[in-house]
Amino acid sequence: MTPYLSVVVPVYNEEGNLDNLMQRLYPALTGMKRPFEIIFTDDGSRDRSLEILKRLAKEYPEVRVIEFNGNFGQHMAIMAAFEISRGEIVVTLDADLQNPPEEIPKLVAEMENGHDVVGTIRHNRQDSVFRKSASRLVNITTRKMTGMKMTDYGCMLRAYHRNVVNNINRCHEASTFIPALAQTFASSPSEIEVAHAERSAGESKYSFYKLIRLNFDLMTGFSVVPLQLFALTGIVTALGAVAFALFLLVRRFMVGAEVEGVFTLFAILFFFIGITIFGIGIVGEYVGRIYQEVRRRPRYVVRRVYGGSDEG
Ligand code: UDP
Ligand code: MG
Repeated sequence: MTPYLSVVVPVYNEEGNLDNLMQRLYPALTGMKRPFEIIFTDDGSRDRSLEILKRLAKEYPEVRVIEFNGNFGQHMAIMAAFEISRGEIVVTLDADLQNPPEEIPKLVAEMENGHDVVGTIRHNRQDSVFRKSASRLVNITTRKMTGMKMTDYGCMLRAYHRNVVNNINRCHEASTFIPALAQTFASSPSEIEVAHAERSAGESKYSFYKLIRLNFDLMTGFSVVPLQLFALTGIVTALGAVAFALFLLVRRFMVGAEVEGVFTLFAILFFFIGITIFGIGIVGEYVGRIYQEVRRRPRYVVRRVYGGSDEG
């Protein structure tokens, strides 16, 4: 029977969460009385996650497991699962139980009201103060730069209609951010509030560095505003410099030669050198991604799929 609902879960070193997750996810889905499937992608875990997933695939006929050849990142893990998903509605869910699986029926109900993407806003978010304030900044700048109206970019408990998923599957970009990508294909997006919990076991898989990488993916993947802002800064600075030179020229005639303030000049100079390097860095972010795209290497490598028809 073709599933009506596909639940997609990326997994990276989540051995402590998978059994608990299944114990809550399964009843939440059977309670909806619609055919469903659960697709886990093991994103190159180095703990016992894959073992547990293989066991789940044997135990539950609804479960399929994609085994990646290495760690390709959360968004690639979701992409791979999207490609083999069959449901009319596809829901993404984190494995760490930060998004309660019990909220899935609410998402599906909202989809059935005629929306093709249902996003979520984390009510009472349970993360560190640092993560929360960083997120707030990212949400505001992303909204400004991409012009997309999404309240909470980071929350991955989301539902997508088959049409949207099919369009996402047509995108072969090497670095992406799925909620933003989906938003570009949505004709009637909606948002609901969902509960949020602390990570049930293990640690966040995003280091500070990985978070920055992810946000560059989001910025460069969906907007060229950073480049435009940089060009604009250049123009403003150049105009300022011309005005300042004129001012110095006039002053030269009125006050005579001056040599004070040499070190202030250094400080100012370093500031602008900093801005220049920053700008080259931004350009580099785009160029690097263009390079990745033109090489057309596979974005991820699937070693094997377990469960479903590919019995193994
Ligand atoms: N994840 C993944 N590959 C990665 C990093 C994370 O598949 O390289 C998965 C992870 O197992 C979890 C989800 O993505 O199911 C979200 O990760 P995490 O909870 O660490 O992120 P946070 O909640 O801290 O933003
Ligand atoms: Mg988490």
